Amino acid sequence: MDTPVETTVWQSPPAENQLGLPKRNVWQAMWRGFRCRCPQCGEGKLFNGYLTSVPACSICGEDLSHHRADDAPPYFTIVVVGHVVVPLMVAVFLATELSVTTHLLIWMPLTLVMTLALLRPIKGALIALQWALYMHGFDTRSDPDAMPEGYLRIDPA
Ligand SMILES: [Zn+2]
Repeated sequence: MDTPVETTVWQSPPAENQLGLPKRNVWQAMWRGFRCRCPQCGEGKLFNGYLTSVPACSICGEDLSHHRADDAPPYFTIVVVGHVVVPLMVAVFLATELSVTTHLLIWMPLTLVMTLALLRPIKGALIALQWALYMHGFDTRSDPDAMPEGYLRIDPA
């Protein structure tokens, strides 16, 4: 005779964040944003210009108009580029006897290229971070019509 098989039911951790909204994977969203892709689906384009973001994803329709990246992208770009260029410049200055003109010809273009190359991906990552954390207008609970299907409105008690 067969003995009844005991089954263990595992429950996943709560899939909601502290706002009571479905958790979003922050790092996945930021990586998608860094690749200038929609943080929701990872397919649609995030920009329709160099730094102009699309109002909504053309693939999944996610509303991306709520971001407030403002001056954070230039700030973080300066932090990253500065932490690469300045130590390199000091190291090369100390190790060689290049003229000031040569230093300018090396570091000015490098700074310019790195800045222009990183500004857009960093803006994309910051838009995705705001999306993943429901910052600013991405928390649309006050306007239930704006919520995607499956989201529940939480009324204050
Ligand atoms: Zn999308």
